[in-house]
Amino acid sequence: MPSELEGLGELTYTAWREKADALRPDGRLFIDGEYRDAADERTFESIDPATGKLVANVARGGSADVDAAVAAARRCFVQGDWARQAPRNRLEVLYRFADLIEAHAAELALLDVLEMGKPITDTITVDVPETALTLRFYGEAVDKLEGVTTATEPDVFHYTLREPLGVVGAISPWNYPLWMASWKFAPALAAGNSVVLKPAEQASLSCLRAAELFVMAGGPPGAFNVVAGYGEEAGQALARHMDVAKISFTGSTEVGKLIMKYAGESNLKQVGVECGGKSPHIFFADLEDLDRAVAAAVEGIFGNMGEVCNAGSRLLVQREIYDEFIERVRTQTQRAYTLGDPLDPATTMGPLVDAEAAARVREHIEEAEAAGARLAFGGMTADAGKNYVPPTAFSQVTSDMRLAREEVFGPVAAFIPFSTAEEAVTIANDSVYGLAAGVWTGSASLAHRMAREIQAGTLWVNTFNEGDMTQPFGGYKQSGHSRDKCLETLLEYTQVKSVWMRL
Ligand code: NAP
Ligand code: MG
Repeated sequence: MPSELEGLGELTYTAWREKADALRPDGRLFIDGEYRDAADERTFESIDPATGKLVANVARGGSADVDAAVAAARRCFVQGDWARQAPRNRLEVLYRFADLIEAHAAELALLDVLEMGKPITDTITVDVPETALTLRFYGEAVDKLEGVTTATEPDVFHYTLREPLGVVGAISPWNYPLWMASWKFAPALAAGNSVVLKPAEQASLSCLRAAELFVMAGGPPGAFNVVAGYGEEAGQALARHMDVAKISFTGSTEVGKLIMKYAGESNLKQVGVECGGKSPHIFFADLEDLDRAVAAAVEGIFGNMGEVCNAGSRLLVQREIYDEFIERVRTQTQRAYTLGDPLDPATTMGPLVDAEAAARVREHIEEAEAAGARLAFGGMTADAGKNYVPPTAFSQVTSDMRLAREEVFGPVAAFIPFSTAEEAVTIANDSVYGLAAGVWTGSASLAHRMAREIQAGTLWVNTFNEGDMTQPFGGYKQSGHSRDKCLETLLEYTQVKSVWMRL
């Protein structure tokens, strides 16, 4: 199956626009191997945040649809259509699934671009290839799940079986619509579970299409279902469902707390949550490569329009280099970020996901100014389109300001000066979040000391926002408690059975 990814980098703005106009996305639910309307036939509009135009009418799944999807998933699981296939067969299906994702790269990339506004260049270089990689990584692991035989007294035989959980519910965010969902459905499917996914209402089309591609790859009907709809409706019904064995959630801390409550109030299902962040990105005066550090600072907060859970949104800079650093960030931002139509390959910054998000980010900007932070660049430019907010930075931010405490989820940087390493640690840890952090220093011992003292699930040294599938990704504190990616995550979609036999 030829991957489409190769040639896509050469497409022009006009070519992408033509491809986008020719798309006829299917916004129906995907349940038990086929598309279908919501039981009550309700739909909602998915709007392109760049143009305000309708992308598709999307089925508004409700509890009846979640029931149908869970029933199909349960039936598939109980019959063993997927769970009891020879592991190598499941591996082959996941590989073909990855191939099909790449064979439909342009379409999947466009769906994410049209629904949430990220630049096309990002989707074809990050979202789509990373989704295929996620499927291959867990595909490779399908037949490496093992139990153990333990040391027991001589007339006992004891071993463990590592078994799938059953029906796994996944609830995903819109910032990397297909890719973040794949961090859930890939390991869940690899371990033999059936999956019901509720994607974010802002961007569900790529996930719906992916479920169809899974069936085209040879996946059995019912193993992978997608119920689009609203969080309070379809999402809540899934998280409260009595036949769902686990909910794997990525989204805001606020909703993560609700998911845990729903699990407690229903069937005590397992819960894994990946939530928000306010990641500190720390620059010591002894750092060795100022150009790289500045580029990482800029990319770390303005990449994906700042709509990144681990965005380096608090920039802690040692006083000796503070003013120069901000000035260099300003010029590098001008060089690196061009607002525009996300379908234009030259665009590096698209609109925010929707009008509500743009309004929320503007409110943060207004409040930061009122609270006494100094606008370094960006802000409320009159010429920017409705949902566009330009890269914005504030200096002289203090830890008590809302800008330093709350997740903005937009392109707004908060510069905080510090003098000593102790002070940097105190400021860095003064947050309810603990998703990630970055430290730039020429001193190896300082780097290792920071690695131990900073409360975060990921600590980058002299780089930021890097990693591969082997790296566990998840939070400390209220950034959540589960881990995505990495081999260990596969085990989170299994349970252990102990078999004890008297000989
Ligand atoms: P969100 O509003 O919390 O939504 C996440 C998902 O939960 C969506 O599918 C949403 O559906 C659903 N949902 C909302 N209310 C629900 C409810 N009462 N019951 C069940 N499900 C419900 O987050 P978002 O705005 O999509 O994404 C941004 C957030 O995700 C940020 O906080 C970001 O930091 C976090 N995030 C974290 C990671 C990580 O790995 N730690 C990665 C990416 C994003 P609707 O769309 O219909 O509301
Ligand atoms: Mg929401």
